[in-house]
Amino acid sequence: MTNPLLAPWTGPYGLPPFADIRAEHFPAAFSAAMRDHLGEIDALAASSEAPTFANTVAAFDRAGRLLERVSALFYNLTSSETSPALQAVQREMAPLLAAHDSRVFTHAALFARIDALRERRDRIGLDPEQRRVLERFHLDFVRAGARLAPTEQARHAAIMRRLAELTTRFGQNVLADESEFRLVLEGEADLAGLPAFVRAAAQQAARERGIAAGAVITLSRSHIVPFLTFSERRDLREAAWRAWTSRGEHDGASDNRGVAAEILRLRLEQARLHGYASYADFALSDTMARSQAAVTSLLEQVWRPARARDDERAALEALARSHGESGEIEPWDWRFYAEKVRQERYDLDEAAVKPYFPLERMVDAAFDCAARLFGISFVARDDIAVYHCDVRVYEVRGAAGPIGLFLHDNFARPTKRSGAWMSSYRLQSRNTGDDAGPALPIVVNNNNFAKGAPGAPTLLSVDDARTLFHEFGHGLHGLLSNVTYERVSGTSVLRDFVELPSQLFEHWLEEPEVLKRHARHHETGEPIPDALIERLHRARHFNQGYETVRYAASALVDMAVHARTSSEPIDVVAFERAELERLGLPAAVGVNHRLVHFQHLFSGSSYAAGYYVYLWAEVLDADGFDAFVEAGDPFDPAVARRLARFIYSSGNSIEPGEAYHAFRGRAATPEPMLRQRGLLEPVER
Ligand SMILES: [Zn+2]
Repeated sequence: MTNPLLAPWTGPYGLPPFADIRAEHFPAAFSAAMRDHLGEIDALAASSEAPTFANTVAAFDRAGRLLERVSALFYNLTSSETSPALQAVQREMAPLLAAHDSRVFTHAALFARIDALRERRDRIGLDPEQRRVLERFHLDFVRAGARLAPTEQARHAAIMRRLAELTTRFGQNVLADESEFRLVLEGEADLAGLPAFVRAAAQQAARERGIAAGAVITLSRSHIVPFLTFSERRDLREAAWRAWTSRGEHDGASDNRGVAAEILRLRLEQARLHGYASYADFALSDTMARSQAAVTSLLEQVWRPARARDDERAALEALARSHGESGEIEPWDWRFYAEKVRQERYDLDEAAVKPYFPLERMVDAAFDCAARLFGISFVARDDIAVYHCDVRVYEVRGAAGPIGLFLHDNFARPTKRSGAWMSSYRLQSRNTGDDAGPALPIVVNNNNFAKGAPGAPTLLSVDDARTLFHEFGHGLHGLLSNVTYERVSGTSVLRDFVELPSQLFEHWLEEPEVLKRHARHHETGEPIPDALIERLHRARHFNQGYETVRYAASALVDMAVHARTSSEPIDVVAFERAELERLGLPAAVGVNHRLVHFQHLFSGSSYAAGYYVYLWAEVLDADGFDAFVEAGDPFDPAVARRLARFIYSSGNSIEPGEAYHAFRGRAATPEPMLRQRGLLEPVER
């Protein structure tokens, strides 16, 4: 019996043999791959040759590729197409993989060689990328506990194992609550106010769940947000909102309250082992922001003016009163009345906009922008089957031939986690050590769009289209990567830099010439009318106070909960409530990223004390896009060349502040971000 995970992958581009793979293949493959990796490391650490960059750092960068291949496949499947069997393997493997990581990054003999090289880094003839790779690896070891005393090291490893278990459980609990919930709409009364596209998506979701005649609202964002926006049934909106915002907060097996509390306690202990007073301090020490003070000061620049936007709520209340409603605006009312005010004030009707945003045309728009900026093309490879029939596969071609493979997985389904994300099956690098040549990146974009009915197109909202562009920007960061060493490839950058390529790419969606070319009516093919573009443009700051407050509240709570220096047990629900009260979050706004289901913070550690990174990167993207505005052309070739070289293809081979400076000719300023959010202008009444 051969394990297809361990056999050579001979399919196109070295893609995994998806059809042959079963959940039960993974444990044995992981064991073999971890053994393999440790063998490689032991061998290079035991070398009798003096350490050099080539025999130590480059060799370490090349080690463990089998484990990476298996892990990348595994985590992509558990995110996009999971099953109870895969989830069980995930729970079993999480602590073992964490233990493996600790063993690798505290390998004393290997660290001694890397440490010795770092001591001599100025005298061993390194090029800038090599120097950066050495620094990053050295820091990886230090942050994994390589410098701790043996007993502390053992405790650190135990913490990491337990955190891996807990973060796995946290994500699985959220998915359990999401797939458990369905709001079944029966008859016309339950559908009141819902435009055709929301009904179609709800009917499609019902069919997928075996409910023949009916409509179902799920907790997928592309279901819940339109439902809250259009449903005239206040009672159903409230039920949907409460279900959405109480994920992870139900007694029983999927309760995340204790899980989050234990994660927080262990993170604090981890930070203390490293000599930091709080987890936030530890996490921020390896970012562009560096300190809590820098993060808080940025968040407050938007929090204060956004919270002062009382005019938004006043307009909603006035409208609600004119509809004969009394009482306060509640969080489940906000989107509903905001949409009405938007229609009234800007003559903009979401249901009238969507026909111009069919998914296929928006995908073409993203590809076309990439072609015009970076000279690459996307060629459909419908002959390549992957893990689900809805996934489209594209070969990505540059001037000199293929540069990678792109998988586009756009639809929501019960086996996929919520949200939208980019990930990789393989990272770009040239340090492959074999004759096969450079490793080409295999990148996947996941979205959760509600699929159109059979035979009908999937129509996106402007928000959905922006998400598509956002993830595609991350995808380009992986696909355009042009570095030698895998450690600094593509999106392996500091976390407050990683949202720059994605958020920057969103700007091209708003360019009138892009819309004229690609936003075409799904039935007539007519381009979007100028008047509609103009109305979209005029409405761009509408409701930005609400959006900013909601986002900043989540980021401030994240920072506060990770800034705790007390190891007293925490009640996360009470902490969150008190913190929002202290901040003065308007009751009508409400947060939809509650701590009990905040996957950014607790399904892994990469955004813990890091939800601020979107705003940090927004300072860079708003300022960065102005380079094209100043050049007078959104596709200006000279600016695009600098953008490709210093931002999209340099990975982590250049310090991010330097990379931005090289692209822009100066450091970023926050004014363009504030302008973009409508927070610098006088309040419209
Ligand atoms: Zn992103």
